[in-house]
Amino acid sequence: MKLTVVGCSGSFPSAESACSSYLVEADGFRLLLDMGNGALGELQRHCGLYDLDAIFLSHLHADHCIDMLAYFVARYYRHDGGRADQLPVYGPEGTEQRLTTAYADTPTASSMSEVFDFHTVKPSTFEIGPFTVHTERVRHPVEAYGIRVEHAGKSLTYSGDTGVTEALDELARDTDLFLCEAAFTYGKENIPDLHLNGREAGETAARAGARRLVLTHIPPWTDPQINLAHAREVYDGPVELATPRATYEI
Ligand SMILES: [Zn+2]
Ligand SMILES: [Zn+2]
Repeated sequence: MKLTVVGCSGSFPSAESACSSYLVEADGFRLLLDMGNGALGELQRHCGLYDLDAIFLSHLHADHCIDMLAYFVARYYRHDGGRADQLPVYGPEGTEQRLTTAYADTPTASSMSEVFDFHTVKPSTFEIGPFTVHTERVRHPVEAYGIRVEHAGKSLTYSGDTGVTEALDELARDTDLFLCEAAFTYGKENIPDLHLNGREAGETAARAGARRLVLTHIPPWTDPQINLAHAREVYDGPVELATPRATYEI
């Protein structure tokens, strides 16, 4: 499968990058993981507006889902006058209501359900197109999920937003590519059950036996090189920073 970093900025967009959004492709199927601020614009560099086959939202913080509002407009008011098909959207409990409220529709009369087919995520294993996915609750102030995507014997694990948790160690067990958030800086920010720092991302990768670590979700006010160096101190495998438009063959 192929992973493309659509956006990797944490918490809010930077001058160089949209917020969290990652395109995963295999067998011609396109699964988008998260759609944060600015992702819809950047996504159009990588595929057509209507070329997605499914969307997974790790949680409902704006930097992971807010461009769904813009995408609703693009799907609902197509320039040819028709509606786009119902696109499967996997998200936490209440995803449709949250997005609908932000759009100013009433949740009971949602237009969104005409172009999105919402599925509520729970910790489980299920199929999305050609992928087998595993979802696990991670530690964050709101209901949040990490996801492991498997295809043809390979795996990609995405942390979403989380503090340190055994659930993520297990989800990323022996994974081929571990896309892990490192929003905090070791020794500087320390709020439990919110985000990982570079060192904790490295430690998680080491405990999990991940084969490769890509650090992501680093906010514009944080020096990514410091977080990268901290991860390298505790993880022996290859580790790098996610950058917009980077691609990985897994
Ligand atoms: Zn976030
Ligand atoms: Zn968050």
